[in-house]
Amino acid sequence: MPELPEIESLKSYFNHTALHKKIVNVDVRDDAVLKSISSRSFQMRLKDETFKSSSRHGKYLFVELDRDETLVIHFGMTGDLKNYKSTVDDPQYAKVIFDLENGYKLAFICPRKFGSLRLADSKEKFIKDHELGPDAYSDFDWNGFKKMISSRRGSIKTTLMNQKVIAGIGNDYSDEILFQAKIYPFTKIIDLEEEKLKEIWKQLQKVLKKTINRHAEKDKYPSNFLYTHREDGAECPICGGTIKRRKFSGRSSYYCQKHQNKT
Ligand SMILES: [Zn+2]
Repeated sequence: MPELPEIESLKSYFNHTALHKKIVNVDVRDDAVLKSISSRSFQMRLKDETFKSSSRHGKYLFVELDRDETLVIHFGMTGDLKNYKSTVDDPQYAKVIFDLENGYKLAFICPRKFGSLRLADSKEKFIKDHELGPDAYSDFDWNGFKKMISSRRGSIKTTLMNQKVIAGIGNDYSDEILFQAKIYPFTKIIDLEEEKLKEIWKQLQKVLKKTINRHAEKDKYPSNFLYTHREDGAECPICGGTIKRRKFSGRSSYYCQKHQNKT
């Protein structure tokens, strides 16, 4: 499931392929991905628009159009973008296809549900309406993080994943951050001393920076990352201990039994 580093890569891909291009036609293949807008209205409002600028907040990609509206893209579990020449076959699972003036197309692909496209008045309004927390990578510092997190109840993992507290981190990267910080994922925040919270903050920044710099390409992740060892019984790349899997809110969470001690 794409999280902040993957969306950052998708933003770069979008910028390289579609930014500043004019949309000559919009083909909606599956209107289930459109949120709060009909297929016809979506087509009409995007046709002849130009993708003016792009930015990311949490797991959302925002594309400002030259008329005052913003296209909001959420990639759900398996969403992706694909740019290709208009003479080439459309990719499988293309849900919406934008024909660009340069003879290329940009497809929003989504093999499984949960990805979505919508139009918003502005990025700021969308963030406010959806009560998204500050972006995990760019919006706040240690004091902001401390203030935000120490008032929360519940476990550290749930809180890191809560988009209303911090936007952008999901199941896999919350595991990675806590693995690097040597914190048991299900520790209650109330039981974490300030020093531990600071370590989580530091690792959050490091993990996101390293993964963004590697364009979210998993085979380039550092060898001490949990990311490529997410398997029950695998050997821990930090301490040689055993990686354990635990089902949590319907997702599999991974941690090292040895160096992520319960406090
Ligand atoms: Zn370990």
